[in-house]
Amino acid sequence: MTNPVHDSKDQDVLTVLLVDDDPMWRFLTSTALRDRGWLVEDCESGSALLERLPASTADIILIDALMPGMDGFATCRAIRRTPRGRTLPILMLTSLEDDESIRDAYASGATAFFIKSTHWSLLAERVRDLVRLGEIGRQLDVSNARLAKVHLAARTGTFDFDFDTRTLHGAPGSFAVLGLDNSRTGISQHELLHLMVPEDRGVFWGAIGADLAARNRFRVEFRLSPIAGGVVRYMCAEGEPEYDADGRLRQLHGLIHDNTDDQRRREEMARLSSHDSLTGLPNRKEFLRRLSDAAAVAGAAGQTVQIAMFDLDRFTQFNETLGQAAGDELICETARRIEASAAQRVALIGNGAAHCLARLPGDEFVLMLTGIADPTEAETVVRAALQSMRRVCVVAGTECFLSASVGMASFPGDAESADILLARADRAVHEVKLRGRNDLIWFQPRFEQGGRGRIEMITGLHRALEREEFELHFQPWVDASVSRVTGLEALIRWRRDGKLVPPGEFIPLAEDTGLIIPIGEWVLRKAAGALAQWRRDGIDLECVAINIPTVHFERGSLLAEIKEAIERHDLRPRSLELELTETCMVRDFESTLPRLEALIEAGATLSIDDFGTGYSSLAYLTRLPISKLKVDRAFVNQLGVSTQGAAVCRAIVALGQSLGVKVLAEGVETPEQVQALRSLGCQTMQGFLFSRPVPVDQVPQAIRTAEQIARRLAEARSAPQRVTVEGDGVLHGS
Ligand code: C2E
Ligand code: MG
Ligand code: MG
Repeated sequence: MTNPVHDSKDQDVLTVLLVDDDPMWRFLTSTALRDRGWLVEDCESGSALLERLPASTADIILIDALMPGMDGFATCRAIRRTPRGRTLPILMLTSLEDDESIRDAYASGATAFFIKSTHWSLLAERVRDLVRLGEIGRQLDVSNARLAKVHLAARTGTFDFDFDTRTLHGAPGSFAVLGLDNSRTGISQHELLHLMVPEDRGVFWGAIGADLAARNRFRVEFRLSPIAGGVVRYMCAEGEPEYDADGRLRQLHGLIHDNTDDQRRREEMARLSSHDSLTGLPNRKEFLRRLSDAAAVAGAAGQTVQIAMFDLDRFTQFNETLGQAAGDELICETARRIEASAAQRVALIGNGAAHCLARLPGDEFVLMLTGIADPTEAETVVRAALQSMRRVCVVAGTECFLSASVGMASFPGDAESADILLARADRAVHEVKLRGRNDLIWFQPRFEQGGRGRIEMITGLHRALEREEFELHFQPWVDASVSRVTGLEALIRWRRDGKLVPPGEFIPLAEDTGLIIPIGEWVLRKAAGALAQWRRDGIDLECVAINIPTVHFERGSLLAEIKEAIERHDLRPRSLELELTETCMVRDFESTLPRLEALIEAGATLSIDDFGTGYSSLAYLTRLPISKLKVDRAFVNQLGVSTQGAAVCRAIVALGQSLGVKVLAEGVETPEQVQALRSLGCQTMQGFLFSRPVPVDQVPQAIRTAEQIARRLAEARSAPQRVTVEGDGVLHGS
């Protein structure tokens, strides 16, 4: 760094630019100064001086105040307007002593004034002082400019606050940190407060006062209001007080720092630690915090909070087959759908209802609903979200059909703390999975007893396979147009400790644990064996149907097993019917299709079980090599009850006809349903009306009874009479 005072100038040889209209005075002054070895450039008028100034090397200007034409004051003002003259010291020489001239001299930009006299040494000392001061001033300017740059770069400003004037003073650039012009060197307390966001104005001085009282230093944070579309900026002022001899607070000295970047980083860190990076949703920790808060508020107001936990069904399979990136996309899409649906429904409810969706690790989401008094209304919101998830979703060029198992729980009924409530919703999810997934269940206390029961159940299933505790029952179906049983569905049971356990209670668990594959193989072998035996006994059936769960289809060696069964029992082609679900068939359609065709090649036929509950598109259906649709019991139930039920049945029958496949109605329980189905054109029926599922040895009798019932119903149609069926299919006519 150079030191202008010493480096730029030899202090002993000064250059003076002198202007005076009086030649004598000019001569005397120049001579006196030259005698000291100085250089003097002199001119006789203001305008001459202004002309000379740009090329001049003067250290100081001496101006006579009174001159004809442009007087000393006007010249001084003009000098100050030039780049060269802006910072040069100007000494106004005057013979006047009145105060007004002195004031005018300063007002015109003079650095000092000097009464004309012949005390040349006095003048010379004055000139020397002014030059020195000017150099110091210039040096100060340089360092101020440097400081302003530092302030700007460090987003900091230093200040002294004066309690008398209530003003902050600072070097130029000090208040740039507040968004003010670089040239500002002072700002009133009032202006400072007005730069702040309104909430921070009232607490600013209080915070400083409290700090000073406690530790003789202060540190206060405040926010600046955004200017012209900008953002809120986070500031911090800190420093120390200065007291006078009487202990009165006189000044504060400190600095103001712009903490916005730090604050944003802190916020981002907080966001990352409380939010899921993939979906941007709150994470488990944050959700629990919000749930606790919501529960506290609801508890105080005597209100409830409901939560719904969504667990995507078979998400691992999507991830494995489509890849992690596609899995991530599915997660994001699911988040968007649940969020959009919940937001829409909750807005419709209004009345302070609110929601919050969070992502838990893996493929789980949890939705919190507040301000909804009626649990069924909350359930409607969740069901709508579940429904929105089920719409086809195209990821990595593949159409995916997502579903979820949803468990709901309510505060304070099901739990009084956030984490237990979450655990209980999770327990309900588990229950949905046990029952076959893709549904919603509210938590019930008895689910809690299940943990141990589940382990026992798994052990039991392993043992059941070894000890052959499974039984295969058969339920006939009837072709009502000819009153004949044309086939049977094989339905598994588990004889556990003398009691028959229905498949709904153990199949989902067997699927979860993979035990379904050996169980499925067992069912296939037994069913094929039974079919062969009936044929030998003279009971002629078109086919026997076997339920094939997705896990078995996707992971097992089904094709080989089918081939083996047909060969071993010398079965007729098309006598083994495999019941699959829509979702199983259309998932990953292009790779599934050849495998379905291979099964047909091997001699099996395919039907879609529980048709109407899945979500396949017509485009797929036309390409599937199926020969039968089994209308789900849920729709048959509705025949004669709701017009919608009848409409769905009618649509499915019409669809079957146009696809050229048979349509079978499941769960037929009443003669009225038979009538209705026949009038829709559906002739194949299965249900308790004809026969319940029966053990293999009772099949011949069950077939006879079912056909007898079918005949009686046909007769009743031609000759109207009331037909009722009671108990286990015993027919009563009147
Ligand atoms: P599904 O394949 O839809 O079987 C029809 C179910 O409806 C059977 O229940 C049957 O007993 C019942 N059902 C038949 N007619 C009527 C009726 O008129 N009214 C009523 N209320 N129900 C009727 P089940 O045997 O309890 O089987 C339930 C489900 O378990 C089956 O539904 C099937 O998905 C599965 N399942 C049964 N056996 C097997 C099996 O061997 N392997 C596999 N993987 N799943 C099986
Ligand atoms: Mg079935
Ligand atoms: Mg079914």
